[in-house]
Amino acid sequence: RQRFQGKTAIVTGAGSGIGKAAAIRLAKEGAKVALFDLMDERTRSTEHQINNIYRGVSRSFDVDVSDPVRMEKAVSEVADVFGGIDIVFANAGINGVLAPVDEMTLDDWEKTLKVNLNGTFLTVKYTVPYLKKRGGGSIIITSSINGNDRFSGFGMSAYSTTKAGQVAFMKMTALELAKFKIRVNAICPGAIATNIDSSTEVSEELEEIIIPVEYPEGAQPLADGPGQPENVADLVAFLASDESVHVTGARIVIDGAESLL
Ligand code: NAD
Repeated sequence: RQRFQGKTAIVTGAGSGIGKAAAIRLAKEGAKVALFDLMDERTRSTEHQINNIYRGVSRSFDVDVSDPVRMEKAVSEVADVFGGIDIVFANAGINGVLAPVDEMTLDDWEKTLKVNLNGTFLTVKYTVPYLKKRGGGSIIITSSINGNDRFSGFGMSAYSTTKAGQVAFMKMTALELAKFKIRVNAICPGAIATNIDSSTEVSEELEEIIIPVEYPEGAQPLADGPGQPENVADLVAFLASDESVHVTGARIVIDGAESLL
């Protein structure tokens, strides 16, 4: 079924994990997909998989989502190349610097806020004019159960703050953009098997207590281990599609009941 035929999607953080799975999923169902990430081999590999293996249409763009000049330019390039924008998956994010609050520097704090909050803001800000031109669209923001349903990560005060902030931002923009038929929703995954831990920065003396050696058994009652990026891509596809036409301002948890324990 080609639910996204004739649609263009921007996916940020498309080089890995949840973004990569969502980009592939949207392309498989007919969308043209712009892959935004810090350019590296992984983003090119997503592009290659979509274009050559799934016979889709994708193009990777070297974008730091926290850079306003680059973001504005890349978004307008997408509209030029693909003829418009319909679906926006604001997903790029980092764990950032983990540290107890009294040891966290302002630079550490701002580093996480810059990618997770400024990045989300800029992605939405620069794409909305194009969604308006189309007469509507769907924006999906990747938040987390962390900062909303759970507060469990040691030294993750900055990360949790960004994930709660994204939900407030989602609700305000959902309200603001409803009259333009632009829907805005947030997804809150529990642990998902991705490369997110490689975005964690932590001092050597804290490393041992902060980084868990193994994923704790039974942490997600529905599954044997963490969820898979493809599970999240299913939810993203639903929110991107017309099947969720009456869903906006919603925060949807996808965690195998992790946050209920
Ligand atoms: P990931 O590290 O596998 O993928 C994230 C991608 O974002 C990477 O390709 C990275 O290069 C890119 N990225 C990072 N900073 C960027 C920037 N400044 N500009 C552009 N791209 C940038 O991790 P993931 O788990 O797929 O993370 C995706 C989102 O899911 C994040 O917002 C994360 O907070 C959220 N999340 C993840 C989990 C989990 O357990 N994996 C749980 C809850 C929420």
